[in-house]
Amino acid sequence: MSRTALDILRTVYGHAAFRGHQAEIIDHVTGGGDALLLAPTGGGKSVCYQIPALLRPGTGVVVSPLIALMQDQVRALTEVGLRAAFLNSTLSLDEVRRTEAALLRGELDLLYVAPERLLQERTLDLLDRTAAGGGIALFAIDEAHCVSQWGHDFRPEYLQLDMLAARFPGVPRLACTATADERTRAEIVANLRLQRGRVFVTGFDRPNLRYRVQEKDNARRQLLAFLRAEHPGDAGIVYCLSRKGTEQTAAFLVEHGVPALPYHAGLAAELRRFHQERFLREDGLVMVATIAFGMGIDKPDVRFVAHLDLPKSLEAYYQETGRAGRDGLPADAWMTYGLQDVVLLRRMLEDGDADPMHRRREGQQLDAILAWCEVTGCRRQALLRYFGEVLPEPCGNCDTCLTPPETYDGTVAAQKALSCAARTGQRFGAQHLINVLRGSRNERIERFGHDRVSTYGIGLELDVDAWRGVFRQLVAAGLLAVDPDGYGGLRLTEAAWPVLRGEHPLRLRRDAVLPATGSAAKPKKARRSAALAALTADSARLDDPATEALFERLRAKRRELAEAQGVPPYVIFHDRTLAAMAVHKPLSAEAFLRLGGVGERKLQKYGEIFMGEIRAAEAGLG
Ligand code: ADP
Ligand code: ZN
Repeated sequence: MSRTALDILRTVYGHAAFRGHQAEIIDHVTGGGDALLLAPTGGGKSVCYQIPALLRPGTGVVVSPLIALMQDQVRALTEVGLRAAFLNSTLSLDEVRRTEAALLRGELDLLYVAPERLLQERTLDLLDRTAAGGGIALFAIDEAHCVSQWGHDFRPEYLQLDMLAARFPGVPRLACTATADERTRAEIVANLRLQRGRVFVTGFDRPNLRYRVQEKDNARRQLLAFLRAEHPGDAGIVYCLSRKGTEQTAAFLVEHGVPALPYHAGLAAELRRFHQERFLREDGLVMVATIAFGMGIDKPDVRFVAHLDLPKSLEAYYQETGRAGRDGLPADAWMTYGLQDVVLLRRMLEDGDADPMHRRREGQQLDAILAWCEVTGCRRQALLRYFGEVLPEPCGNCDTCLTPPETYDGTVAAQKALSCAARTGQRFGAQHLINVLRGSRNERIERFGHDRVSTYGIGLELDVDAWRGVFRQLVAAGLLAVDPDGYGGLRLTEAAWPVLRGEHPLRLRRDAVLPATGSAAKPKKARRSAALAALTADSARLDDPATEALFERLRAKRRELAEAQGVPPYVIFHDRTLAAMAVHKPLSAEAFLRLGGVGERKLQKYGEIFMGEIRAAEAGLG
């Protein structure tokens, strides 16, 4: 009896139905077609190559750049009963031989390899010899945007993967990425020789992510307030630009009672791996990282991604925030940014050794993210628009939708700011210009004679914070440019003149008063797990302390089992599955199988254990 894709989805993975394009892609690849699949993180890309690998004869080869994560990926597959293995440099010679032998006997459904490993003649030769055991079912190329030279994750080895087409004709290749932009897409198709394949693009919206951008005042304090108010006990990622920033922020959080670890490329590889493992295995740890961290992290319950510094582009921002809420439950994408970020990024751009074309592109990317930070309409609509997608209605789940920013006619303020920059020689930073506008007295002002320029003291109607907002917005809108010398000097651009001449009125946004961290206004209920909250939201009956207690009990059991096996807890069950267990309290195999995320293997392995916990809780046994 031949199994269908849907049978596999239900019995192996425990999901009731395909989502989006999944069924179509699986059909296409199972039939031998090549494809590029673009879908957001959490979009369910993995079954799109795993199921065809099961349906086709032979082993599916998954190319992934992430050696450190292969072990967990393989464990997760083993847990649902698939025969999976990996080949990489962490294995002993003995383990390598065993895996190779299993492959040659046709005993593997899936094999994970890093590109550099795959491209070794020894590995290619091994794959050639699999014919007797069924051959290669397909190649899945994960994180395929690594082949793009313009992207932020370029890996030179990826370019050589183009040879797979010629060396293994007839073996379908599926490239997957969560990167949305057009240019990267075209590069993947060209560089991986997917011209004859199909391209599947699912929408890039992540409706469960709440986007928020806050004017930066004291970033660490703002972060702490945000975490205390909204994410106590939650796992999350905090991104900083510099290594030092990650170290200091992690130390600051720990000092204030938030368990946090730093992660950056300057830490010894050993320590980095250790921190990553802890993040994956423990509940509620905050990782404070540079962008060196995060690719391929498929921890499903990351409840927030916070940016303390401005990312380099909207692509990077989307990619990084995408790591939150993979399980589909509510999660936050939260950011603070200020003028000093712009100054810093402009300087890094100028100091970089990129060629002029590359530099121009980076400049445009920075402009785009700045403009996005300052939007007054729906933030999600603007983000998706950047990726060529139209969201017809405002989302209702971003800062600008939830608290629409107040705007005012900023023409006069802008004119004052611009002419102050002009009169002082277009080489001073915002702080000094604000001092001049507000008629301050200090040594610098006297030394340069700026108390004698015509704009001295003409800006008393706005306070320092408000002026900072004006300058930031003028830079974001491209009316003022930051000097590349690194001191933050501001000069006028062509676009400034129509405003100065009064030909072009300007609306500006009034920055929200600071520590308004979203829900500061409404009193918080005691913290609930996002999974349980989502399931019980519509029913007061389900939302009782007993359900909550059972959920915690099931979590503790899961933790115990995970520790004993050395796997991350989510490899056993996702929070969502545990929450459903706590709510529905299944006590038979049939009922247990009906839970989302429970397939036959998990029923067999864990059904009795968890039903035992439910029974014990019902009976009131501690
Ligand atoms: P991606 O690789 O695209 O980031 P994953 O393949 O990790 O996403 O899937 C994200 C989550 O969605 C996983 O928890 C997975 O089990 C779940 N999932 C995938 N397909 C389905 C489906 N058809 N129904 C329900 N859940 C699904
Ligand atoms: Zn919105």
